[in-house]
Amino acid sequence: MASTEGIFDLIIRNVRLEKQETLTDIAIRDGRIAAIEPAFRCEALENIDGGGALAFPGFVDTHVHLDKACILDRCSICEGSLAEAVRETAKAKAGFTEGDVYDRAARIVEKAITHGTVRMRSFVEIDPRAGFRSFEAIKRIRADYAFAIDIEICAFAQEGLTNEPQTLHMLDQALSDGADLVGGCPYTDPDPFRHVDMIFDLAVKHGVAIDFHLDFDLDPGHTNLPAVVAATERHGWQGRVAIGHVTNLSAMPLADVVTIADRLAKARIALTVLPATDLFLNGRGHDLLVPRGVAPAHVVAGRGVVTSIATNNVMNPFTPYGDSSLVRMANLYANIAQLSRDEDIASVFEMVGHSAARQLGTPYGMSVGDDATFVLLDTTSSIAAVREIARPIAGWKNGRMSFDNGRPRIHKMALR
Ligand SMILES: [Zn+2]
Repeated sequence: MASTEGIFDLIIRNVRLEKQETLTDIAIRDGRIAAIEPAFRCEALENIDGGGALAFPGFVDTHVHLDKACILDRCSICEGSLAEAVRETAKAKAGFTEGDVYDRAARIVEKAITHGTVRMRSFVEIDPRAGFRSFEAIKRIRADYAFAIDIEICAFAQEGLTNEPQTLHMLDQALSDGADLVGGCPYTDPDPFRHVDMIFDLAVKHGVAIDFHLDFDLDPGHTNLPAVVAATERHGWQGRVAIGHVTNLSAMPLADVVTIADRLAKARIALTVLPATDLFLNGRGHDLLVPRGVAPAHVVAGRGVVTSIATNNVMNPFTPYGDSSLVRMANLYANIAQLSRDEDIASVFEMVGHSAARQLGTPYGMSVGDDATFVLLDTTSSIAAVREIARPIAGWKNGRMSFDNGRPRIHKMALR
């Protein structure tokens, strides 16, 4: 137990911690959790009643595109295909200004904060169309919202490298100027294998992690995954590579998925599943019995792969919906994957929490001594949170309240 001498900055009383029956109090001093104890008998400058809410270390969004969010007003969607989404967004991107990217990204980040997200990896496209305008805007966003959320920036080649050598030089420059990691997209490059190698070369040069958009179709026979696994092992980059989408896993027999998951686990490559986008863009050729086209994240996680569920796009041709709520995304995944058992639902919560934090390599915990960064959810357990899409009530970062949604109140009629 921590020292109880002196006055604490803040005590949040009557909160529930995962897997604990009784309510407890959390005392905070100097931005850290100083004590966790039921009915804590100490003074604090401020006391807040948690009202029995679930306290947890917050949601972690491993994959979001802040730079191209909220552009439905300047794009048209006729086919609803991946090719059209890339094409329409590329057209819009040429017209992005730094201020425009900042304003749209701020809208998404503020929504994410009020939905209890405390950490986020944003891809930012840096190429001849976008220049460094989006990158400069998202760097300002990262600094301006650091009071509530940690944002890492992935310098991203959405539209190929071998066909646009200038992009490679621009990514190189961004990695020397504040980008945290590098991202590639082999499926839009005329030479996907060379693309993978070029991204690895950049990562090795700068000593950073890698995040690929990969195998975004429903053809199990068409894959760039073995190339990524081989390069990861060749460069000794185990634990520093993530892959997103990999929707062709949804078109494979379970035995094949298990084989691939075991290869990912061995190479310590993380998988991100993006249900909103994958559902919207896949299976367009089907008139009926449309496939879901979402990789079976729970199966892959069950084989020991670090697996997350993330937002990806909001209000653009890749995903013309969205509210940046990860608990809603977790619920969407559980629903389409037809999960019902408590242990499966618990694993889905991990994919927007602990497992997502592992993917980003960030600390994540609620013990004495940890940063006082946590969120209150209006529910009794993480399993109930996913099932019910629990409401985030309030959150703190390093002991400072970062958002407060209040509690809903029903104004009942007086009984006669
Ligand atoms: Zn993406």
